[in-house]
Amino acid sequence: MGPVQIKQILQSTEIGQTVEVKAWVRTKRESKNAIFIALNDGSTIHNLQAVAEPGQLPDDTLRLITTGSCLRIEGTLVASQGSGQAVEVKIEHVQVYGTADPDEYPLQPKKHSLEFLREIAHLRPRTNTFSAILRVRHALAFAVHKYYNDNGFFYLHTPIITASDAEGAGEMFRVTTLDMNKPPRTEDGAIDYKEDFFGRETNLTVSGQLEGELGAMALSKIYTFGPTFRAENSNTTRHLAEFWMIEPEMAFFELKDNMDLAEDFVKSVISTALEQCADDLAFLQNRLAEEEKNKPQNERSMPLLEKLKFVVENPFERLTYTEAIDILVKSKPHKEKKFQYHVEWGIDLQSEHERYLVEKHFKKPVILTNYPRAIKAFYMKLDEDGKTVRAMDVLFPGIGEIIGGSQREENYDILLERVQEVGIEPESLWWYLETRKFGTAPHAGFGLGFERLVQFVTGMGNIRDVIPFPRFPKSAEF
Ligand code: ATP
Ligand code: MG
Ligand code: MG
Ligand code: MG
Repeated sequence: MGPVQIKQILQSTEIGQTVEVKAWVRTKRESKNAIFIALNDGSTIHNLQAVAEPGQLPDDTLRLITTGSCLRIEGTLVASQGSGQAVEVKIEHVQVYGTADPDEYPLQPKKHSLEFLREIAHLRPRTNTFSAILRVRHALAFAVHKYYNDNGFFYLHTPIITASDAEGAGEMFRVTTLDMNKPPRTEDGAIDYKEDFFGRETNLTVSGQLEGELGAMALSKIYTFGPTFRAENSNTTRHLAEFWMIEPEMAFFELKDNMDLAEDFVKSVISTALEQCADDLAFLQNRLAEEEKNKPQNERSMPLLEKLKFVVENPFERLTYTEAIDILVKSKPHKEKKFQYHVEWGIDLQSEHERYLVEKHFKKPVILTNYPRAIKAFYMKLDEDGKTVRAMDVLFPGIGEIIGGSQREENYDILLERVQEVGIEPESLWWYLETRKFGTAPHAGFGLGFERLVQFVTGMGNIRDVIPFPRFPKSAEF
């Protein structure tokens, strides 16, 4: 269906064949002996070179072939003289679909800053960097579904508009309705929003977990993979207002099974990306290496591919929150008062603490478990001592928290007590509590922020650069 993609053409060995290419121009170069046009249709990081003889193309046409213009080219596939490509196209006919005035088109062939590209989010997928990121993101998303499907999980669609707030997960966006049958504006001219969804207070989901648990209590192993929303006014490099979360939930899993699954899952999808996106990752690695050159030797991080292979091949470090606090208290930055936030048992770990453990102390991914009950959500299973809960956070180098999860409290009475303790009306969670009343089962699950995974795999420093249309305070208009 449709034209043959450049990715296929570049692998073709059928020299002498007629080909039709539809793509955007990356560069045009005119020399004494030939005109070279580098074409890209987004199917691969590599360009296809199309070659014409001087004087072959009418001047009117040649003038319109500029960076960013879109062409249809007919020609013959020939062996390429140039290095780095086996084949090229000898042009027979060119049709210009769309021009791109060089005085106006912002993506001229030079390196643009990521900040600048963020301002032109509508065009940035046409750059090498962003098309590579989008292809890696796609491969990871497919790998996620494949992993769970292969392991007996069912894909459960949890609601986006919900009355449940998955306590403590973050600030929510309230859903309001606008009645278009009535004048949409009040007397003083303001928009007449209703403060509820047909008589109920609802919000955009912050997590599909509570609904996911309902699925696990029937299908045993489910996962969700959908958009989640948090009205965080945080301008960090790891938070978005709209992000995608993968949340597996499993009946008959305890904390250790949960950790084993999280580790195996993350390793599996990263190794799929390594296999399927070798060229894109090599490109991103070179791009990063250029940035690293400006840093002092001891601050340079491992080359991207090496880092990904390391994570896939080595076991993650596993320790309790209490053990982590011990390490942090004895650490150099704590003694020298270099941490911005004070460390003592009971604190919620800040990203500086997480990154110290991962990047300086263990130098590998870390799974921290058994956090104090006071800093974790009500649904986590209490440990025997009643002080800690069966929580687990997976921490990654350069990112910090990538996964948050736990074994869930399956005892009805304890859960009811915990719900009341945090000030939630048990009536509002009657449906959730009933899973413990009828045929309760030990179960566990976790949430992986998909963009944080894509950030890790692509090596991008800012989460806004790994999602096609980032939502953050003051994000782009569309
Ligand atoms: P953080 O401590 O980084 O704010 P969290 O503990 O609030 O994360 P959870 O509620 O545990 O996050 O959500 C599960 C996962 O979702 C996190 O481990 C993270 O990967 C991802 N995540 C959470 N908030 C965001 C966000 N605003 N943007 C992108 N990903 C997020
Ligand atoms: Mg948070
Ligand atoms: Mg956290
Ligand atoms: Mg968390």
